[in-house]
Amino acid sequence: MTSKGNCYLCGAELGKTAMKNHILKYHNAEGIGQECRLLKIEGAEDKNYWLYVDIPVDKTLSTLDTFLRKIWLECCGHLSQFHGAGKSKKLGLFQIGDQFWHEYDMGSTTATLITVVGATWREPQKKAVRLLARNIPPQFTCAKCGAPAAYIDTEEMYDTDNPFYCENCAEGRDEFMLLPVTNSPRMGVCGYCGEQDVYAFVPSDKKE
Ligand SMILES: [Zn+2]
Ligand SMILES: [Zn+2]
Ligand SMILES: [Zn+2]
Repeated sequence: MTSKGNCYLCGAELGKTAMKNHILKYHNAEGIGQECRLLKIEGAEDKNYWLYVDIPVDKTLSTLDTFLRKIWLECCGHLSQFHGAGKSKKLGLFQIGDQFWHEYDMGSTTATLITVVGATWREPQKKAVRLLARNIPPQFTCAKCGAPAAYIDTEEMYDTDNPFYCENCAEGRDEFMLLPVTNSPRMGVCGYCGEQDVYAFVPSDKKE
């Protein structure tokens, strides 16, 4: 089962494919303002993490790299690269259906799959990358007491089914092995502690 997400423009809660159709139908200002490419972005290993963004055709993949670091990846300034396209390639050179990969950190790599799903238009705006939709944060439960988890134990994450702990049960565990639960495919890797919440969905902001 794949996760549902929220449309950041109107608050609609939909699955991944339905969200694409929703954006193309309701949030495409055909022929007006900035011409963009609509991208579907997924965790390559866990596709329950997903995003939709639009980026103007004259911007390059290095703009996307910066955004991916902010929302999903950045822990300590690792190298990153795209497969199937260079960082200087402009979005306008991609066709609908094109697919390529992004890799962050060549040691403990987090891979991201990017699919060009539309040629869209939007009102002009300063920020090159506009976040249109994102999966709802997955809920994990504490392995000991079943409460909502706050941490992942990185020593256990590859060995046990449930390496998650709540605030209380995390006390007394090796704190150097604990990382916060985050809405990112990089959760639990290296020193990843999550975004600064600038991309979290706030329902009250989105109601008409
Ligand atoms: Zn919407
Ligand atoms: Zn790191
Ligand atoms: Zn607990």
